Parts: sequence; structure tokens; C-alpha cells
Amino acid sequence: MFNKRIKIRELLATEPAGQEVTVMGWVRTFRNNQFIALNDGSTNNNLQVVLELGKFPEETLKRITTSASLKITGTIVPSLGKGQKMDLNAATLEVLGDSDAEKYPLQPKKHSLEFLREIAHLRFRTNTFGSVFRVRHSLAFAIHQFFNEKGFVYMHTPIITASDAEGAGEMFRVTTLPIDGTAPKNEDGSINFKEDFFGRSTNLTVSGQLEGELGATAFGEIYTFGPTFRAENSNTTRHLAEFWMIEPEMAFYDLEDNMNLAEEFIRYIIKYAMEHNREDLEFLSQRLAEEEKALPQDKRSEMGLIEKLEFVLNNNFERLTYTDAIEILRESNHNKKKKFQYPVTGWGMDLQSEHERFLVEKHFKKPVILYNYPAAIKAFYMRQNDGCAPGQQTVAAMDILAPGIGEIVGGSQREERQENLENRMKEIGIPVEELWWYLDTRRFGTVPHAGFGLGFERMVQFVTGMTNIRDVIAFPRTPGSAEF
Ligand code: ATP
Ligand code: MN
Repeated sequence: MFNKRIKIRELLATEPAGQEVTVMGWVRTFRNNQFIALNDGSTNNNLQVVLELGKFPEETLKRITTSASLKITGTIVPSLGKGQKMDLNAATLEVLGDSDAEKYPLQPKKHSLEFLREIAHLRFRTNTFGSVFRVRHSLAFAIHQFFNEKGFVYMHTPIITASDAEGAGEMFRVTTLPIDGTAPKNEDGSINFKEDFFGRSTNLTVSGQLEGELGATAFGEIYTFGPTFRAENSNTTRHLAEFWMIEPEMAFYDLEDNMNLAEEFIRYIIKYAMEHNREDLEFLSQRLAEEEKALPQDKRSEMGLIEKLEFVLNNNFERLTYTDAIEILRESNHNKKKKFQYPVTGWGMDLQSEHERFLVEKHFKKPVILYNYPAAIKAFYMRQNDGCAPGQQTVAAMDILAPGIGEIVGGSQREERQENLENRMKEIGIPVEELWWYLDTRRFGTVPHAGFGLGFERMVQFVTGMTNIRDVIAFPRTPGSAEF
């Protein structure tokens, strides 16, 4: 058996009392032919391994280079040096894998995030990405735990779909037809997808919601957690072409129940990370503070990362209607001084990210839930509110906006009344026949129900303080970029 090691995170939590241990990991630094800082990915804290002078042959010492992998057995003793509580006095040392220090691109110095993106396959070996991806893991785990504790059923919705029902974004096409111009054609010259693999035109999914609703109207409460694809040709710090989304869908929920669940959910997973990743979050908090030193005073966050997360745990989100938000924006000095790039034209306008950020960061200074949006700017399946003034039809939609990120959640109560739903579909030209299976939920025992989608990477951004979404997913897919 090879794997008789203790992980460094676990080891560092013990008292140094002469215990014999085996550790394995990668060299971060090696100085004076005597002190190895060893990292095994379980924590950013390295284990200091001490080599007695003269004990190991010169050839072995030469092979202890940055990122070489080692197996070391020895005794744990209290450290004589500052900065760590224990040392491992090495008795045996085996080099598992050499690393050519001349060619290894990560030097023990600060690298820019842009540079690290170009070597995304190695960036996990830095402290920043070590912390980010351990936090990402914890959030994913907490998400399953949260829904599991509540009795939600985890549902796997398809990745390949035939519907573009939602119109949530531009889609990636899935086909096995030749792309060299020889694909079978219809009489009008368009491609004949009847000849394609599925006998129809298919795409990568932009959302699992419609299928999720089918689950909710049988199990009561379900959630999905899977990859989602949008061919958005926008190069922003919060859009990916491939991202992960969590979509709970609940029968017997109205809009308020939906907001309550979303708030409880977000707090739960943040709390989990605070409890399980304290060190990583402290590291990231410091990293962010460092990074912000380069910014002018008014561009810096008012709160540190940990402080911000604690604030979210201890304060309710601000809830206000779209209509009230428009009033606040219209009356703001920011607007009067014409500082918005997109002027606030009034009720009915779609909010731009600068407007959302103004509300969250300048006006309320905390997460905000906006609800009851104009029907015209929201999806067809959202529940039409009763008793709206003429020309001011709203739907029971809600978006959660987070400081520094903008929209992290989009959700709604769904339109459960078949007639209303079909009328709306016809109004905006969505073929009712194609979605016959979706409409069956309204035909056979329809119920009030609601749900939302949380963009996982945006949540990871929020918790880690990383400003670019490319730095919270292992191998980002963005326009013009799919290396690794
Ligand atoms: P945005 O206006 O920011 O593009 P959206 O309105 O298109 O968002 P929804 O369709 O409501 O978003 O999707 C639900 C959630 O999925 C969003 O709140 C967001 O957290 C996340 N999301 C949407 N598009 C992307 C993307 N391209 N990359 C990463 N996350 C995304
Ligand atoms: Mn979008």
C-alpha cells in the first residue's frame, strides 16, 4: 500500500509531540539545502521539512526543486523557527517526480491573474487558486447538503435539448451533420435536421428550468446543479459560455416563499464556507485588500471580504419592486448629473448592470431583491400579476443583486394558469405545440409553483472576492478561448 500519508492540513492541527508521519506533496521552496516548504493542496499552509546537514546525498538534494514531488517520512517536533509551530525532521526522503526548475513557469513570487490564466493547468498550485477552488468545493457541497436537509430531490436535467423555449441566451448547436456544406438540405435550401442524429435540431441547454418544473409538479421540491451553456458574445467579468447553475423548483410556493428560500439558501452556503474554509477566506480577504490598495479610495470596497460575508449573514436583503427601483434611480443625483451611461428613461426599461450596481453598492449597500418586473422584459413563463394598471402589466419575477457582482439569482413564480400561459406564448410567438409536454403540467393538476437559478460561479466570485469570473472556474470557456 502506497498511500499511508497524513494530509498537511490535518497534521498542522495536531500538537507536535514526536509523532512519526509520512507526508507527500510538492516543493514550494527549498532554502539553505536544509528547509523544504512542502504543500499538498489540503491547505495553503506549507509544512516545514528539515533536512539534517550531511544526512542526504548531494544528488538527492539537487533534485529538490520547485514543484518536485516528494514522499517524506520523519518525526514531528516543535519548530525552533518563527512562522510555524512544527517541523518535520526527515528520516527518509524519496523524490517521486522531478521538476525542471528552469522550465517550471511558477516562480515563488507574485504572478498576475492574467498570466496565471494562460497557465490555467498549473494555477491550482498557487495560494490564491488553492483557496478559491477549495472554497468552490465547499460551496458545492453545502448546496447539496442544504437541499438534502430540506428533502429536495436532486434532478439531472438534459444537457442536450431541443427547446429554446426560454430564450435565455444564444445557444450552441449540437449536430453530427457535416459542416463542409454537404449537409442534407430542404427544398428551400435550409438544413434538413430530420437527417441529423436526433432527427431534429438540437442545442446545449441554457437552463434546466422547464424540465425542473416537471419534476417539481411530481416530487414537490427539486433542484438541479449542472452545466449550462450560453453563446454570449459578451466579454465581461461575469459571463462565461459554460457555467454551472443551481435551479431549485418548488410546488406550492409563491413569489415570497421563493425569495425566502433564496435568501436562506445563500446564507446557508456562505455560513458553511465561513465555518469550513476560514483560513482560505482570510487569505482571500487579505489578497483582496492588497489588490485594492492599487485602486483610488472611492473604488475600494467599504468592507473587507470576511466583513462583507458576515454582513450578509446578519442582515436581511433589501426587497423592493421594480417600480420603486426605477423611482430611486430616476431621483438619484447620479442620474440627475447624467452619470449613467444608459439614461433612466422610466418605467418599462430594462435595468443595465450600472443601474443594478448603483442600487446595491451606492444606495442600499447590501444585497437587494428586485421583484415584480414589467412582463415585456421577462420570460413567458413568469406569473402575470393580477390587477395591474393598463400598460403596466408586471410578472412575479425576482432578481437578487449582490455588491460587486450584480445579478446572482434570477427567478419567479411560474404562471400556473394554462390559459394565461398559452395566451402569453402566442403573444410573443412561442409555438404552443412544441412545448406540449411542458404545458401538460398545467393540464393535469396544476399548482402554484416557483423557482430560481443561481449562477454558481457568480456565487463563488461573491464569496472569494475574485473580480473576474474566469478565476473561479477551473478552465473557463469564453469567446475565443477554450484552451486546456
Ligand atoms: P445577466 O443579465 O447577468 O446576463 P441573465 O438574466 O441572463 O443574467 P438568467 O437567465 O436569469 O440570467 O440566469 C440565472 C443566473 O445564471 C443569473 O442570475 C446568473 O447568476 C447566472 N448566469 C447567467 N448567465 C451567465 C453567464 N453567461 N455566465 C455565468 N453565469 C451566468
Ligand atoms: Mn444573460
